[in-house]
Amino acid sequence: KLYNQLQDLKGSIRVYCRVRPFLDGQPKCLSSVDQIEEGSISIITPSKYGKEGRKSFNFNKVFGPSATQEEVFSDTQPLIRSVLDGYNVCIFAYGQTGSGKTYTMTGPKELTEEGLGVNYRALSDLFHLSEQRKGTLHYEVSVQMIEIYNEQVRDLLVTDGLNKKYPFLLHGIEIRNSSQNGINVPDANLVPVSSTSDVIYLMNLGQKNRVVSATALNDRSSRSHSCVTVHVQGRDLTSGAVIRGSLHLVDLAGSERVDKSEVTGAGLKEAQHINRSLSALGDVIASLAQKNSHVPYRNSKLTQLLQDSLGGQAKTLMFVHISPEPEALGETISTLKFAERVS
Ligand code: ADP
Ligand code: MG
Repeated sequence: KLYNQLQDLKGSIRVYCRVRPFLDGQPKCLSSVDQIEEGSISIITPSKYGKEGRKSFNFNKVFGPSATQEEVFSDTQPLIRSVLDGYNVCIFAYGQTGSGKTYTMTGPKELTEEGLGVNYRALSDLFHLSEQRKGTLHYEVSVQMIEIYNEQVRDLLVTDGLNKKYPFLLHGIEIRNSSQNGINVPDANLVPVSSTSDVIYLMNLGQKNRVVSATALNDRSSRSHSCVTVHVQGRDLTSGAVIRGSLHLVDLAGSERVDKSEVTGAGLKEAQHINRSLSALGDVIASLAQKNSHVPYRNSKLTQLLQDSLGGQAKTLMFVHISPEPEALGETISTLKFAERVS
């Protein structure tokens, strides 16, 4: 029991690494990943990254290319349970474009039952667990979905398609901080949900509304952070006491460093906003991990939004994604270094 408590204290920030498989048609012999163990990964590096030609990184867990969606989610389940116990939980997907962030959170393009990602599995678990507790507690679950694009917050749960057609006409909505509700985004639709099919409907809608602009690496790539926020409120049927928890599921924008000589105008502005907000996120998590007294939440919209859910009693899980191709090695190393810094 004490061991579990200690683990709990220690484990408020967890980092899992996931290596995606080679995609169809790519040679399978060139992986830059040398070895994967339960809690460590070693990569083959060209000499400029280290004399040995190998570098190893430690994580709470490492998932190899053959890990299934179910396996990846199974270690996340205890976090979902704690949302119902009144904790704020944040789950992030980090990595360069094409490394599998959306696959982990949402699933493959053609969704199948086995392909369902963390988002769906988390919600389905929430419903399942709240059902088990219904003799003593009554839970209400509602969902918001927003994106942060160029440091502007937009509601993704809108049906008029305005976000997509005229993204530049819309003003971003505000993140507010009230003593009663904590950090909140009152102008984003908050939709009560009672089943997984409600959630699938909403997430599809949100996904369609994401601002997507093609990059050379991946035309499905997104240059925005998307965040599904699940608000959970439970009322004790005998005492009337209310507990509130929340779950943020964040598919971050691609972490690749953009070569300034190759992008101009809108692309360059996007890249600068992304770099800035991802480093702000890294700074916040690193200063929490080091137990610094000052945590720089104010440096980006992303960290402002998540202020209540990073640090304190909150629990954080970061999935960092690795592409196995040797061409990706530079980004792989900077991803692993980012992850090492926050864990
Ligand atoms: P990102 O969101 O990081 O840009 P995606 O999730 O879109 O990357 O993944 C890029 C491509 O790789 C997609 O075609 C996706 O279906 C595929 N993919 C990613 N991870 C896996 C995986 N673990 N198994 C099989 N295919 C994957
Ligand atoms: Mg994606």
